[in-house]
Amino acid sequence: MQHSSSSDNRPVAKIGSKNSFYYLLNRLSFFYFMLKYCMSIGLISGSGLYEIDGLKVCGEKPVETQFGAPSAPYRLGEIESIPVTFLPRHGFPHSIPPHKVNYRANIQGFKLLGIDRIIAVTAVGSINPDIKPGSIIIPDQIIDFTYGSRESTFYDSGKVVHVDFTEPYCREMRSSIISAAHKTDINVYERGSYICVNGPRLETAAEIEFFRRSGADIVGMTAMPEAVLSRELEICYCGICIATNFAAGITNERLTTSEVIETMNASTERLKTLLKAAIAEIPQNRSCGCKDALKDSGL
Ligand SMILES: [Zn+2]
Repeated sequence: MQHSSSSDNRPVAKIGSKNSFYYLLNRLSFFYFMLKYCMSIGLISGSGLYEIDGLKVCGEKPVETQFGAPSAPYRLGEIESIPVTFLPRHGFPHSIPPHKVNYRANIQGFKLLGIDRIIAVTAVGSINPDIKPGSIIIPDQIIDFTYGSRESTFYDSGKVVHVDFTEPYCREMRSSIISAAHKTDINVYERGSYICVNGPRLETAAEIEFFRRSGADIVGMTAMPEAVLSRELEICYCGICIATNFAAGITNERLTTSEVIETMNASTERLKTLLKAAIAEIPQNRSCGCKDALKDSGL
């Protein structure tokens, strides 16, 4: 019988063998790493946010879900020693338009990583003339005009679930972000109704007027179905929106994507400061209703 160890039969603990110190250390590091990031805050945003001051990127985690691949591998990092898991909604580099984002894969991917809280950063158009370009809005309501055009539920077949969506954004996370804004002296609109359209085209002036009369303050293309999919998985979800321009017909000027990018860039520093403060402000343990969203929701 041949031994696979060295020829003098001394016990040799090889790196990678199940008895080795290095193997155990490796496994312990892996479990520590996963435990740490399981408790992290999820952040969905565009690529510009990888440049947050003080952000330390520690690794990437590709995830495969039953709905396919998320927009990109999740990036595991830290802000002020708080673990954060990033996902660029439109891929990296930016290449997936809002109506083609695989929202179910993105949200399920966070769930598979153990994330139970997500902050979504989004550029929006302002419908409310009081909300000037460059303003930051913490929306509290959603009007969904994408309905029927996107995969918007995890409960297509089998169990029938009607999740409560009276308050589409997590109340606890909203109040943490608003409190962080007060502490950092950053002006934010503490409420706002976000109307979500399918895109990728921008809206007509008549549509915006219709939305304004319906009570919408801002218009964007991504809050839905992100918000409801998060609720269906009992993940807390909230939004930080940057008004990058006035929507069609609110001013007489023609809308351009360069205007959107310029305003976004000008708001980046305030956004980064707010994000860092907000992430530190969010309590470790959840006391909101999101964690019990599926209770009494099935038929
Ligand atoms: Zn919540």
